[in-house]
Amino acid sequence: MGKIIQLSENLSNLIAAGEVVENMASVVKELVENSIDANSTSIKIDLLEAGLNEIKVTDNGSGMSLEDMKMSFQRHATSKIKTSHDLYHIGTLGFRGEAIPSIASVSHFEMISSEGETGNRLFFLKGELKESGSFAPRKGTTIAVRYLFYNTPARLKHLKATNTELSYIMDYVNKIALSHPEIAFVLTNNQRVLFQTTGSNDYLRVLSNIYSLDIIKNMISFEAKNQYFAVSGYATKPMFNRSSRNSITLIVNGRVIKNNKVINAVIDGYKNYLPIGKYPIVFLKIDLDPLLIDVNIHPQKLEVKFTEERNLCSLITKTINEKLQTLSLIPQIKEELKVETTYKYDTLKLKDEAEEKQSLVKEDFVNYINHLVEKKKHSDSIQNSESKKPVLEEKKLPELEYIGQLLGTYLLFQNETGLFMIDQHAAAERIRYERYFAKMSDVKIESYDLLLPITLNLSNKEVLQLQDSFDVFQKMGISFEINEVKTIDIVSVPTWFVEGYEAIYTEEIIKYVLEGQDVSVGEIIDSLAKSLSCKHSIKANKFINQNEITRLMKDLDQCVNPYTCPHGRPTIIQLSQSDIEKMFKRIMS
Ligand code: ZN
Ligand code: ZN
Repeated sequence: MGKIIQLSENLSNLIAAGEVVENMASVVKELVENSIDANSTSIKIDLLEAGLNEIKVTDNGSGMSLEDMKMSFQRHATSKIKTSHDLYHIGTLGFRGEAIPSIASVSHFEMISSEGETGNRLFFLKGELKESGSFAPRKGTTIAVRYLFYNTPARLKHLKATNTELSYIMDYVNKIALSHPEIAFVLTNNQRVLFQTTGSNDYLRVLSNIYSLDIIKNMISFEAKNQYFAVSGYATKPMFNRSSRNSITLIVNGRVIKNNKVINAVIDGYKNYLPIGKYPIVFLKIDLDPLLIDVNIHPQKLEVKFTEERNLCSLITKTINEKLQTLSLIPQIKEELKVETTYKYDTLKLKDEAEEKQSLVKEDFVNYINHLVEKKKHSDSIQNSESKKPVLEEKKLPELEYIGQLLGTYLLFQNETGLFMIDQHAAAERIRYERYFAKMSDVKIESYDLLLPITLNLSNKEVLQLQDSFDVFQKMGISFEINEVKTIDIVSVPTWFVEGYEAIYTEEIIKYVLEGQDVSVGEIIDSLAKSLSCKHSIKANKFINQNEITRLMKDLDQCVNPYTCPHGRPTIIQLSQSDIEKMFKRIMS
């Protein structure tokens, strides 16, 4: 009887291992989270060959007695979930009752632990205890996992290339260090330090170990609160972007989580500041009453849902967007004629960062970060003590003197800091876009009746579809009458329609309504405003006179975001005097 239970236990460990132990990163995760549970303030992760030969996690936590050490190899023994009440408190990390026995079943597993007085060592092979003895006491626990998956070749074959596996571990360690800035983490691979934090409890310091100096310098802090949620964090200026959403990190009540709606809310905060397919680097911390977290989501997958999710998302979008509106965002052309926006140069970024970090003497880098942290703290405290309303860093566009038009497309300006170039189409497009968007979104849209109705020829199917969307049109100030099965008469249009363009605008709206039955009115308005502003703005290769230029610059300066067109491309770029001088070798770089 006993043997049968033993067998099935081993088997179920192996099965559980398939679920819990996916790769080296998942082992690191389990071990590190155990260390956190043991109240460690210092956690060291040492890898050999990205963890394939060895994963060793050493902490200075409370440690375990011999009895507790043995207990941790029983399934469910380490689970912290004792009542359903615990499930609501996502702050606690323990969901991992199966982790230790599962990992031990697919590795050579060594555990050394001490509560301070005596130390013990256990060694497991295929999940069975092989050696047990006393060990020099050092408060805390060390777990070494060697030759992972040596007895499950199928799993072993599934692992990715060494550097890919290492990047998964790195990503996890980045995130756990951000969720626990009070813990000092060290990550090494083959004795080389890859990542290190000091446990200073400062997010910016942790971020400075993940991102380059250039990015850290261009991070802005944000903070907001309502009756349910407190959100805070750091976000990069739009010119520092990535091609994937992976650089958006969410921490909820001290835990890294995933939630697509929240990530979309962050991206929405950057709406029109970034080209399509580009994403910001954001660290977002959300604090809330644990009761507002939906517990029906599997915690292992880190997916979390919120009650009041819409409220949370709109708070995030609004906070980030308002913060961006306070910034001056003119990208600079650097000496080597590389636009700092990284719009096109994103792929070069990683290489640049590595070089940049190397070129900075380590001490200088640390000093610089210290300086930066102090400065941010200072400016944050000033901002907090002042009113909540966003304060402009400076006037949005500087005072500029017009020099001339280049290639019939770019307007050249100067001031004492250097040369500025404005893309006339992009600038005009931004101005119109904001106008259209505001007018179309206005709840009290004014419309007027056309003297002569405009007849639009459609198909019988389209006419039927439009009938269903009658209210969408009404919201936008357009009304029409169904003439016969294949045509409609437009009888009134909103006052913001440009005279002579009524039919074109309406057709455009109809196109969006017909194409996107399931999109919101807001989305229709946004893409319509983009498309109309592009069509009706001054094109490249067109001369514009001084009056038009004055008008354009005045209107651009009044935009909420004068720095990019609605598609996220820059409207204005700068070549600074010092960079010009460097190019002409007047000064040494
Ligand atoms: Zn355009
Ligand atoms: Zn555009």
